[in-house]
Amino acid sequence: MSPRAVVTGGAGFLGSHLCERLVSEGWQVMCFDSLLTGDAANLAGILGQEGLRFENHDVTNHLDVDGPVDWVLHLASPASPRDYLEHPIHTLKVGALGTLRALGLAKAKGAGFLLASTSEVYGDPKVHPQPESYWGNVNPVGPRGVYDEAKRFAEALGMAYHRTHGIPVKIARIFNTYGPRMRKDDGRAVPTFIQQALIGEPITVHGEGSQTRSLCYVADLVEGLWRFLVSDHLGPLNLGNPEEIKILELAQLIAALGGERSQIVFVERPEDDPEVRCPDIGLARVVLAWEPEVSLRDGLDRTIAWARESWA
Ligand code: NAD
Ligand code: UDP
Repeated sequence: MSPRAVVTGGAGFLGSHLCERLVSEGWQVMCFDSLLTGDAANLAGILGQEGLRFENHDVTNHLDVDGPVDWVLHLASPASPRDYLEHPIHTLKVGALGTLRALGLAKAKGAGFLLASTSEVYGDPKVHPQPESYWGNVNPVGPRGVYDEAKRFAEALGMAYHRTHGIPVKIARIFNTYGPRMRKDDGRAVPTFIQQALIGEPITVHGEGSQTRSLCYVADLVEGLWRFLVSDHLGPLNLGNPEEIKILELAQLIAALGGERSQIVFVERPEDDPEVRCPDIGLARVVLAWEPEVSLRDGLDRTIAWARESWA
């Protein structure tokens, strides 16, 4: 029998790429998504295929699944700062109640559990690059706290289920990932800059743009998630691309690739915006024999080509 996975948030950016990969590996996939920030069209390539079942469902409510389940992959959550600031309470609910439902389902079915966690658990880090052993520097009462603390709670709940009920729990700490299927209006730097560069609007850099991020192309991230899933490794694992860049340089690069001679404008920096972010992927290199292969330039080229077609 082929393995059966439940994927929450499977109609989102990362979730849809992951569902495609699982189906192509011969897995049966049951996708639950409320379409809050996702779109069923993201699954168009596999909808209707025997391996995929889709249900419009809010996973903060009870999850009911017939038959055996081998893995519960919990990706449901608003993910961009614009989205989670627009849905602050829902973000906390899906990190808390949604994770509880997903873990409860894994326990009932004797399945393993993988959480899509985030580099945001490291907050505005005082250790750079960030290894899994770093506990982070998060402001719980700042605006970003709704996302950071939801994910930190989800990690803690996952480990409690692991220790108490013996469920295999994997925690993917995902660093900034970009690629086709991002929404042009999700507010994240890459799609925002691309959209601005394609229509010749000013590119909005927050602050002076000296803050850094490390950007991973979606195909590399999905390969990392897949290897993590089929590995023996449990607990937290960083997945991301350690190629670090200042946001101003990212804006300049995307402006040049867009070809419309967009100007750069400097606008107000959001509260608690982390100063630096870069994954230490030493553990993933050892336990998964994985590292990203797509350069930033190449990944941006691919994403821009997709955006030209899809956002027109
Ligand atoms: P996304 O917004 O495209 O996907 C999230 C999906 O979850 C959407 O389809 C949304 O409709 C769904 N969802 C939200 N609340 C739900 C609920 N209550 N019930 C069912 N579905 C619900 O964002 P993404 O970038 O694909 O992120 C996917 C996951 O990966 C998130 O958990 C996010 O925190 C995590 N992550 C992403 C990144 C990144 O750079 N893309 C980085 C770190 C972590
Ligand atoms: N950013 C920016 N202009 C924008 C959108 C984002 O300068 O229009 C900055 C943002 O302040 C942050 C970085 O780009 O410093 C990455 O932002 P994103 O929302 O992509 O990811 P996150 O902050 O969650 O890492």
